[in-house]
Amino acid sequence: MNKWVYLFKEGSAEMKNLLGGKGSNLAEMTNLGLPIPQGFTVTTEACTDYYKSGKEITEEIQAQIFDSLKTLEEQQGKKFGDTENPLLVSVRSGARASMPGMMDTILNLGLNDISVEGFAKRTGNARFAYDSYRRFIQMFSDVVMEMSKTFFEGILTEAKDSKGVKFDTDLTADDLKAVIVRYKAIYKEKMGEEFPQEPTVQLMEAVKAVFRSWDNPRAIVYRRMNDIPGDWGTAVNVQAMVFGNMGNTSGTGVAFTRNPSTGEKGIYGEYLINAQGEDVVAGIRTPQPITKLAADMPKVFERFMEIANKLEAHYADMQDMEFTIEDETLYFLQTRNGKRTAPAALQIACDLVDEGKITPEEAVKRIDAKSLDQLLHPIFVPQALKDGKVLGQALPASPGAASGKVYFTADEAKKHNDDGERVILVRLETSPEDIEGMHAAEGILTVRGGMTSHAAVVARGMGTACVSGCGEIRIDEQAKVFELGGETISEGDYISLDGSTGKIYLGDISTEEAVIGGNFERIMGWADGYRTLKVRANADTPADAANAVKLGAQGIGLCRTEHMFFEPDRIPKIRRMILSTSQEAREEALNELIPFQKADFKGIYEVMEGRPVTIRFLDPPLHEFLPTDEKDIADLAADMGLSIEQIKDACTSLHEFNPMMGHRGCRLAVTYPEIARMQTRAVMEAAIEINDEKGFNIIPEIMIPLVCEKKELKYVKDIVVETAEKVKKEKNSDIKYMIGTMIEIPRAALLANEIAEEAEFFSFGTNDLTQMTFGFSRDDAGKFLDAYYKTKIFESDPFARLDQSGVGQLVEMAAKKGRSVRPNLKLGICGEHGGDPASVEFCHKIGLNYVSCSPFRVPIARLAAAQAALKENTSK
Ligand code: PEP
Ligand code: MG
Repeated sequence: MNKWVYLFKEGSAEMKNLLGGKGSNLAEMTNLGLPIPQGFTVTTEACTDYYKSGKEITEEIQAQIFDSLKTLEEQQGKKFGDTENPLLVSVRSGARASMPGMMDTILNLGLNDISVEGFAKRTGNARFAYDSYRRFIQMFSDVVMEMSKTFFEGILTEAKDSKGVKFDTDLTADDLKAVIVRYKAIYKEKMGEEFPQEPTVQLMEAVKAVFRSWDNPRAIVYRRMNDIPGDWGTAVNVQAMVFGNMGNTSGTGVAFTRNPSTGEKGIYGEYLINAQGEDVVAGIRTPQPITKLAADMPKVFERFMEIANKLEAHYADMQDMEFTIEDETLYFLQTRNGKRTAPAALQIACDLVDEGKITPEEAVKRIDAKSLDQLLHPIFVPQALKDGKVLGQALPASPGAASGKVYFTADEAKKHNDDGERVILVRLETSPEDIEGMHAAEGILTVRGGMTSHAAVVARGMGTACVSGCGEIRIDEQAKVFELGGETISEGDYISLDGSTGKIYLGDISTEEAVIGGNFERIMGWADGYRTLKVRANADTPADAANAVKLGAQGIGLCRTEHMFFEPDRIPKIRRMILSTSQEAREEALNELIPFQKADFKGIYEVMEGRPVTIRFLDPPLHEFLPTDEKDIADLAADMGLSIEQIKDACTSLHEFNPMMGHRGCRLAVTYPEIARMQTRAVMEAAIEINDEKGFNIIPEIMIPLVCEKKELKYVKDIVVETAEKVKKEKNSDIKYMIGTMIEIPRAALLANEIAEEAEFFSFGTNDLTQMTFGFSRDDAGKFLDAYYKTKIFESDPFARLDQSGVGQLVEMAAKKGRSVRPNLKLGICGEHGGDPASVEFCHKIGLNYVSCSPFRVPIARLAAAQAALKENTSK
């Protein structure tokens, strides 16, 4: 018989995969002898079994749940559903990886019409008992039965309004009894049955609801954003309730052992007197800073600090803890390694190394590579900020500067962001349903909520600037306006937010890139010592190249030369080249482009100071360069001495039905060898001159794109060699150069051994290779991929995260085949996947020499490469 349920005392921290993060930590804390309300964990395997069994919990699992419940009753001296002294439990999700707020929680389970009376008598606190019951009905209806919360919130608000009071705590037991009658009536009306009174039914329905919540849309989005596999499942923790809402000697809170925004050492958090957990997270009442507890309940605070320090020492990491004080007795409800901003992650890792608690190797392993993105977030341009008008200030919930147009719903924010706008999401408070809109936003502003509110926690995780708890705002979400600081801001108006100071500004304040601090360099230095995979950048201009070097790039893996032709003084020349009808005319136009292209290459070579630079020859279909608006067409006609009609006809003749698979890549050089000649000349002259001027020893790397056949590569290569040798002779130079190719068509991967006979290096163009392997257009796949995530056909976007089983197989095979004929074949990747940690790990595993990604993702790739190397060493 399989074991599906574990009492807390039967588990340990090592059982995270089976018990989930929360369950294994509760077990570990129980083993440490800490004050934990006892309970049991239904395993993640039970969750996967639930899905396998057609969303049913098998009898075997149910029996084990009831057995454990019995033990819990004995431990607590209370009985489930008892009319005198009922056991109440919380039912909470807990996956292997923490997914804050993504799945469901039910509190106060076990109450019904009878037991609530016994509970009131037993505790001598009728108000508290009825408050617990009404909370339970509300949560059960929302989470388990999926009824809208608004019915219940409306009833509660009416009850407060009719008494003329502001807070829930101002309602008496009788008021709450009346609320409960109305809650149950609305439940019956909407669900067509009475609110369930049998606690074992309540429990089983709640466990199912938590299992179900593993697959709710927001959890699916969260998993995709955080690379969490869909088949892990969540565990369910059933834990005896303790009550923070028993009066003024009770309370509940959330605290971190170090500041999760900055990493600063010292307890950080907040609590509410006379409240349950959801009050703190929902941000409806404004919590007190945790340090105030020292004055309110000194003994409790002392014990709290003792346990917090013990937990941090035990896990050797910053802890995020939930606690409840029930009538001056302290309980810990959970602990976990706290989510943190990237600056905080670096600060904490460096401090822990300095405190002798972890090694540099451990520090490198712990940083979430993706989160480094946040460090590179913009700040306001100081001068622009000086001129900015401050509208108000609230909590600095998540650092970074952001400006954009205001939208009041997550859907609008997402829609306008998809249309290319920078958006700021303004909400009364956010909830997990808002996740996609929050993701789309540059910044988030909320009226309600503390530093641990949903908006704050989620924005910090995403690295999105957030200002929360701005009570001064008068907001009308229906009318889509808000007032602040004497201004009225409507939908579509610009505002700017500083998530580091909490200031809210009028208008669109320009931002600039952040300055990277010492902790970053320290961690990166350690990482560079461990990694074997090199990291290059995709950069097309000297400015991008300089940025790449600053961020640690060891070379350029992809310089897309077409981007150089779009500037106003160049585009007419390339258009002339494209529309010329004779080779002479084309050559003439191309000759005019050589000085520009050569100057670009010299600029890049100069910045790269001798580091390798791979220059990719012209790749896109030619029609991308052609004019579309009437004025440009007229200008071009005048310039070329042709009629407008002739230009239009020429443009039409270049039209392709499927340009991505059309006249592009090396096919351009096959049809117009003069393009390859021009580009070779520009590369070679630039390298020779800069080597002479600066004393570098640049070996140009010329890369031919979109090759599918050895003879095709050879044809273009011969043109390059002939021109390169000519330039060398003219310049009396013995410079070396390399010619390689991109592997981005499946046929090239299949025939990589043949192609390697002509190529000195391969760079995997995994954007096109993904497109051509899946048969998904890289420009349009977004339109249907959402449906693939929702239906769980795909868990992640294959254009962002390398599809290791399909596309990855081609890459691995091509690498092997290539090296079988040319053992020292240099291998790299330059598709978008080069900056994705999971894909970087794959590249390390299959023995590529380098990855190349956009400059801002270079640190991510460096860290991911180090983590891949360390992981490999541990598994050896
Ligand atoms: C690729 O296809 O992966 C690639 C890097 O080239 P591009 O994105 O320019 O097509
Ligand atoms: Mg490509």
